[in-house]
Amino acid sequence: MLRPCRGVIAVLFDRLRQQLREREQAHQYRRRRIMTSPQAIDVCIDDRNYLNFCSNDYLGLANHPALKESFKQAVDCYGVGSGSAHLINGHSHEHHALEEELAAFTGRQRALLFSTGYMANLGLVSTLLGRSDTLFEDRLNHASLIDAGILSRARMQRYAHNDMAALSEKLEQCSEGEKLIASDGVFSMDGDLVPIADMAQLASEHDALLMIDDAHGLGVLGKTGAGSLERAGLDAVAVPVLMGTLGKALGTFGAFVAGDEVLIEALINHARSYVYTTALPPAVAAATRTSLHLLQTESWRREKLATLVDYWKQGAGQLQLPLMDSDTAIQPLLLGSSEKAIRISQQLEQQGFLIGAIRPPTVPKGQARLRITLSAEHEQEHIDRLLDVLEDVLKKEKRNE
Ligand SMILES: *Cc1c(COP(=O)(O)O)cnc(C)c1O
Repeated sequence: MLRPCRGVIAVLFDRLRQQLREREQAHQYRRRRIMTSPQAIDVCIDDRNYLNFCSNDYLGLANHPALKESFKQAVDCYGVGSGSAHLINGHSHEHHALEEELAAFTGRQRALLFSTGYMANLGLVSTLLGRSDTLFEDRLNHASLIDAGILSRARMQRYAHNDMAALSEKLEQCSEGEKLIASDGVFSMDGDLVPIADMAQLASEHDALLMIDDAHGLGVLGKTGAGSLERAGLDAVAVPVLMGTLGKALGTFGAFVAGDEVLIEALINHARSYVYTTALPPAVAAATRTSLHLLQTESWRREKLATLVDYWKQGAGQLQLPLMDSDTAIQPLLLGSSEKAIRISQQLEQQGFLIGAIRPPTVPKGQARLRITLSAEHEQEHIDRLLDVLEDVLKKEKRNE
């Protein structure tokens, strides 16, 4: 018979309870909302409708009829599960065709699908670097890039956010092993861009390899939606390694790495987060092919989104809202304490607006914020409504301070 928890188990669970209590006291406890509608501008949670300003579905493709149709057709053709890893027999025609299309889209020799962006970063950095190499990372890089560095066992040098002088100094001081610079293209919680041309210049001067994680730029930035690099006019020579995700602007799920033949073959052979995991459902790849086609042929979504960003910034500026330095669809309002962020987010929720309160440890201490995101599905009228409510809520907040 099994005995109830005692000894080490009781100690560990007590520790977890204590950690959760501390989170709660610091206003950092995380809870999930249960959605009963598709990802869209209007979402339903617990039988209540909200105007959604917190998704990463920047182009409004996650629930697009053409994507759904491709998904259904592929399910009829291939079933649901891929049934195995890519290297056994889970690599379908849809996966392969998507990889070829992503390579062409990003102007690179090859592209390789991963099941998530988190896994793509883990596999990529561990394949490229070993113990004697050094990885240079922005302090505000996405958690998956930080974890990728830890897993790779390479030495890690983190520099102040977008501080190219600090990066240059650290590169200068590094004399052993190979160097990799890894940065978000668009910073996920701030919305600002990496000075990518300057970074490419530094990489070239210091003989370092440069990789960009363009999770929030791909599909949204650049003339054809090819992302931060296209926007900056940089090619695969300047930035040899590119990671992109499919779960944000592309509206589906998964991620890819694009680069030279040798890099992709090395990943197929060595990246543990590629080799030892089940391939994405083929229907996800099929829907992503449609999404990729739509975003290339219908540039109006990108243009509309850019217009909405301008409209929001103008309105928010007039109200002197605490905007951050961002021109992208990520438009955070810096509030400071976690308590305040939670309180305001809850007040907005009561008024029917869904906006995430982003708190430490996702952002630095004292920099809790509302992470407002815009989508091509929004209309100016939605932004007007949000601005009205924000003005009201923040005024009340000031009076109570
Ligand atoms: C979302 C995100 C990831 C992770 O991608 P998933 O496919 O969601 O695992 C990686 N990097 C950045 C910058 C991201 O914003």
